[in-house]
Amino acid sequence: THGKYGRIDGPVVMIGFGSIGQGTLPLILRHFDLDPGALTVVEPSTAKAEALAAQGIRHVAEAVTRESYRELLGGLLEPGRGFCVNLSVDTSSLDLIRFCREIDVPYIDTVVEPWSGFYFETSENAQRTNYALRQKVRDEKAANPGGTTAVSCCGANPGMVSWFVKEALLTLARDTGRDATAPTDREGWAKLMQNLGVKGVHIAERDTQVRHKPRPRNVFVNTWSVEGFIAEGFQPAELGWGTHETWFPENAHRHATGCQAGIWLERPGAITRVHTWCPTPGPQFGFLVTHNEAISIADYYTVGEGAEPEFRPTCHYAYHPCDDAVLSLHEMFGSGRQQAVHEILEVDEIIDGVDELGVLLFGHEKNALWFGSRLSNEETRRLAPDQNATGLQVTSAVLAGMVWALENPGRGIVETDEMDHARCLEIQRPYLGPVEAHYTDWTPLQDRWELFPEDIDESDPWLFRNVLAS
Ligand code: NAD
Repeated sequence: THGKYGRIDGPVVMIGFGSIGQGTLPLILRHFDLDPGALTVVEPSTAKAEALAAQGIRHVAEAVTRESYRELLGGLLEPGRGFCVNLSVDTSSLDLIRFCREIDVPYIDTVVEPWSGFYFETSENAQRTNYALRQKVRDEKAANPGGTTAVSCCGANPGMVSWFVKEALLTLARDTGRDATAPTDREGWAKLMQNLGVKGVHIAERDTQVRHKPRPRNVFVNTWSVEGFIAEGFQPAELGWGTHETWFPENAHRHATGCQAGIWLERPGAITRVHTWCPTPGPQFGFLVTHNEAISIADYYTVGEGAEPEFRPTCHYAYHPCDDAVLSLHEMFGSGRQQAVHEILEVDEIIDGVDELGVLLFGHEKNALWFGSRLSNEETRRLAPDQNATGLQVTSAVLAGMVWALENPGRGIVETDEMDHARCLEIQRPYLGPVEAHYTDWTPLQDRWELFPEDIDESDPWLFRNVLAS
């Protein structure tokens, strides 16, 4: 018995039916009442055509492209009703948001995705950043405030982790004897973070999912989109740049326009390592892969504005993907070639493992607090079909975002930082396994190899200079 969150009248169009689309579909069917035949999947691959047909779901085996999207989606969606759920790669989130808002159809995606070709054909690194991609969506919001709700970047991260930041702040307020009433606006949340003395946030993730078969050479193995991971891994490393930082990396650049909350490094994120911490491994290396939330969270929690505000947290992803993905990255960057064969670990071949995904709030009086989901593949199998633990953390956020969008029409373009985190987590939590808060006395200055001098600054353990691995 799974609760229904309401009815969606009109056509629901899902773009992309990869690992995330396949996991989201059963949650949509489970939690919404839909018109019969209302669901259409637009997905160029025919790999899952039979499964879709067996469920009576219409499959349009075409790619959504810059040339075709208006006609293709215009023919499937109906103005003023239904939903557009974008879970594909290589489609422009910005153009699809504009189109859906034009015809008054609520929209959701899990990443600001560009049209095909952008990631590898754009020559300027500054233009290849998530900062640049996100800023265009923010500019669209500023130019066209309000209107049909379009939820930008509502997966696990970006997405759910923004709700975790708020829950972690309230936990920290409570545990340090302060007022733990949830603020009611952005300024209130930013001031709460500032008053708690939080210097920054890692999106700290350890994925231990593993299958029995060793990774074959020349195969990129991951627990979610290989294409998506390679694309973001080759983007420049990027982070929200906090006001407590006293040093500036030699290979870093600021942005001249936009919110100015982030900087980027002249180096691919997937070979840029940082020192971080998760409950299961304790201290570990993570990769500083660029993500939308690194900028959105730094921006949202800014007190003041521009390049030199009164307060801003440092914020970035610190990702230890599954071991096979670490080996895949090592092989890919070492050989200078992308593997031709891509495999996403399937729920039934995974023999063990957890996706431990949370936020590490650091620099405050209790040092550091990790707050997140420790969802095992084992538990995932009992909770929902057709996905592994990584997938379920994403798809349940999509579900929560859809419910929120239906309950909040006319809210315009929003990021997850701007949504009701308590309502969204209420919907998502049954799918997240143990959601836990862990304090640690670990800092990035601990557990270093003392025989080799490093470029560190011991006056403040939580400086990015100490977090960045040499
Ligand atoms: P995937 O690679 O498994 O699937 C992507 C699907 O999109 C493929 O089936 C592909 O055929 C299809 N596709 C490609 N071009 C298309 C086009 N032009 N039109 C329609 N469909 C097209 O990827 P996934 O793991 O399902 O991830 C889907 C998206 O979700 C990616 O953009 C990924 O970055 C994003 N994602 C976000 C999060 C998050 O937490 N925010 C997590 C995982 C994935």
